[in-house]
Amino acid sequence: MKILIIEDEPKTGDYLRQGLREAGFVVDLMSNGEDGLHHALEGEHDLVILDVMLPGMDGWQVLRNLRSHGRLTPVLFLTARDQVEDRVKGLELGADDYLVKPFSFAELLARARTILRRGRSGVESTTLQVADLELDLLRRRASRAGKRIALTAKEFGLLELLMRRQGEVLPRSLIASQVWDMNFDSDTNVIEVAVRRLRAKVDDGFDVKLIQTVRGMGYVLEVPDTR
Ligand code: CA
Repeated sequence: MKILIIEDEPKTGDYLRQGLREAGFVVDLMSNGEDGLHHALEGEHDLVILDVMLPGMDGWQVLRNLRSHGRLTPVLFLTARDQVEDRVKGLELGADDYLVKPFSFAELLARARTILRRGRSGVESTTLQVADLELDLLRRRASRAGKRIALTAKEFGLLELLMRRQGEVLPRSLIASQVWDMNFDSDTNVIEVAVRRLRAKVDDGFDVKLIQTVRGMGYVLEVPDTR
């Protein structure tokens, strides 16, 4: 899952980014409202963590703009003032929850997970399923035919992306930006290696191979056509 942090204080931003990365999320960090809004409109984030007090375009304006563009991405806002009017304003503008600074990282993570569990539309499932392969996004567990598969954080991110976009051939450049948060460099074989390892864990020992290489194009996860 991908989280966008919009926070102008470098210390707080870096701290949140590192913690969320360690918790297995892909994280973008923007330090002002304009860039943050732009990023929120461009990228596919599962959650935006939004500081209210930002120089230039403040958090309220970011939130208002995001919603006026029809984006329903969940927003958790951070406010320095524990005042009722702030909370009411944020929730009226369409935020999903808020935290008052200072807060503990454990608290932020718990709030973030609660929002993600509710999902984008309030009904979105947190389990992805393709054939007998299942991915529980909240417990961060994968299983095939009921048997648990142990995955690293990157393998989990890769499998989540492939499952969310099942049947779609995903180019390496897209996988690089979504899972590794890096620009694709054709000299590196990090994606090939990760796909090979993931495939060994997901498909070895099963007749139906779900992860396929489309030569010169990328990778796709789907139930192969057996006709
Ligand atoms: Ca601030």
